[in-house]
Amino acid sequence: MSFRRFLTVVVATLSFGAPAFAQNATPQQTPRPAPPSTLRAPTRADILRGEYGRYRANNDLLFYHLDIRVDPVKKTVGGKNTIRFKMLRDDTRIQLELYANLSVDKIVYGATPLKFERDLNTVYVDFPETLKSGRTYSIDFHYSGAPQEQGRFGGITFRSDPTGKPWINTACEGEGSSIWWPSKDQWRDEPEGMEISVAIPNDLVNVSNGRLQGKTDLGDGYTRWDYLVHYPINSYNVSLNIASYVHFEDRLGDLPLDFYVLPGSLEKAKVQFAQAKPMIEAYQHFFGEYPFAKDGYKLIEVPYSGMEHQSAVTYGNRFANGYLERDWTEVGVSPKFDFIIIHESGHEWFGNAVSAADVSDMWIHEGWTTYLECLYVEQVFGYDDALKYTNGYKKKIQNKEPIVQQRGIHRSPPQDMYFKGALFLNTLRSVVNDDAKWWKLIRDLFQHFKYQNIMTEDVVKFVNEQLGRDLTPVFDQYLRRIALPTLELTFDEKAGTVAYRWNADERGFNMPIRVGKRDAWQTIQPTTDWKVMANPLPKDQFEVATDLYYVNVVVLNAAGYKQ
Ligand SMILES: [Zn+2]
Repeated sequence: MSFRRFLTVVVATLSFGAPAFAQNATPQQTPRPAPPSTLRAPTRADILRGEYGRYRANNDLLFYHLDIRVDPVKKTVGGKNTIRFKMLRDDTRIQLELYANLSVDKIVYGATPLKFERDLNTVYVDFPETLKSGRTYSIDFHYSGAPQEQGRFGGITFRSDPTGKPWINTACEGEGSSIWWPSKDQWRDEPEGMEISVAIPNDLVNVSNGRLQGKTDLGDGYTRWDYLVHYPINSYNVSLNIASYVHFEDRLGDLPLDFYVLPGSLEKAKVQFAQAKPMIEAYQHFFGEYPFAKDGYKLIEVPYSGMEHQSAVTYGNRFANGYLERDWTEVGVSPKFDFIIIHESGHEWFGNAVSAADVSDMWIHEGWTTYLECLYVEQVFGYDDALKYTNGYKKKIQNKEPIVQQRGIHRSPPQDMYFKGALFLNTLRSVVNDDAKWWKLIRDLFQHFKYQNIMTEDVVKFVNEQLGRDLTPVFDQYLRRIALPTLELTFDEKAGTVAYRWNADERGFNMPIRVGKRDAWQTIQPTTDWKVMANPLPKDQFEVATDLYYVNVVVLNAAGYKQ
């Protein structure tokens, strides 16, 4: 998803009517910042939602067939999800999710109605006899109700387009798929494929993920639209987009590009959506073929900024470059392209094809995709723009919480996962210091992990093995610690030397870095212990390549104080 606007809580320091003479005696307290969310205790709901416990881990999703009817007037959704899964161990219960405000009409296994127990948004399904490890089962989960809008994009929204016709969309990454359909609502396990059948009034269009298989007039004023998803899919990516959409199309080689917009947007969209082709070409250049070729690529107009729905990317960036008409990284590069087309589609590679197995490690989606923006800029507008664009992200970084959060509690990491994530990957490119090797590494990483759900440890292990070096302390400092590594320098101009070391939380932090003169960088190998080297440069001419490595630099005097 795109960057969530950061909420600043302004805490005023008030003296609450204390008499004026007391002000000196009672110095103003600096308000204590909210504790990092890593320290905030999870609720029981967080654990039910986030933990990959026994009744999730005992099975492996194979296929969903979501078959529903959406009523734009009553604002209701109902129907069934056929869930096919393989048992991984013998058990009598599995865990699914459906928001508590929606009704479970029945759950059946063949002709047998199953018992179930609801706990907040969790639905435990109980079987009359033991399901056997290795065997495949299929149940039909029937439900109905009026989903309630909540969260940033509403989860599911029933709106009207400018002409008053229904405009219904889903975007539920934070809220979860269970806000509108019954599913195994977590990140680790994805079905291998999915069928999405949506019945809507005859005069409307539904665009979902996957390849359109056909439409069937149901004879009661409703038409069913059938889509087939040929790949594993995150449950939050499953999407409905219902409106009086008009369609236009293009192709990139064999890949169909399908565009759906409101009738009044058609001319603007034909101009703006021309950016989709060079975007896909840029990402294919770095990572290989578009990962959902059998499903095609779609771009669909929606009333919110945008979301990476797999093979059905949603778009609400007002048909203008930048991000909601802003110069997103404020260095003059962002106005050259449409941020939402480039960012949300980048998720097809990282987020949708390569997915994190827990929300804790969501930088695998957002840090990588933000870095993909930088790669797009490099490919289309050149290296200088890319470096400017990447470093423009520095001012958005907070460094107040680690990027990787506690797992098992479904808590979204802080915004730094986007910007610091991208700057970290740019730093890693400088650590590799061999672009041919770097391009091969990130392409191989994508190809190795595509269609998998992975954790940060998998990324670190792969990179270490491919490079034949141990960069674990570097990953850990950037992803699991709060502070940036600081390069400390102490000059002895009389002796013609400079002493240097890393000040970092990771004792083994040993990242190489380029220093000296900009056109003739020298790579040094600092550790967390002091080293001394000859340095003919005056202190004020000694530079550190902070545009290639995201680090702090401080100069200390001989006594060890900051100058
Ligand atoms: Zn995103």
